[in-house]
Amino acid sequence: MSFTHDKECDHKPVWVGRIAVSACAECRRVDWFSDTGAVDHAEAMAALFGSYDLVGHLDALASPAPHVLAYAPPSRSKKRNLEALPRRAWLKAGPHIWMSHDGEVLLLATDRQLLEDNLIRGA
Ligand SMILES: [Zn+2]
Repeated sequence: MSFTHDKECDHKPVWVGRIAVSACAECRRVDWFSDTGAVDHAEAMAALFGSYDLVGHLDALASPAPHVLAYAPPSRSKKRNLEALPRRAWLKAGPHIWMSHDGEVLLLATDRQLLEDNLIRGA
């Protein structure tokens, strides 16, 4: 298996269960893998954050898209999944989804109102 390497930054994958995440605060890129190759972002996000609880909608301050949803981990062990991602950087997780976190709460931003509630459940 090979990962994408950028000239200027090192995209090291972090394994969370069966998903490997390569997230870069410099170029805002996220790649999702499993041990059999690339994984769809919706499937990967569901694996990492699908158990998270929707806790609110936020004003889209400095976010890359107008609809921002906040999700809280249901347990301390699930909260550790956030550590696969750099903090306080908007990362492009998929074609219409950006994500960020502060170590406590996961923020998802989308330009698709339709996605809203089911963002991390693979809808
Ligand atoms: Zn990078």
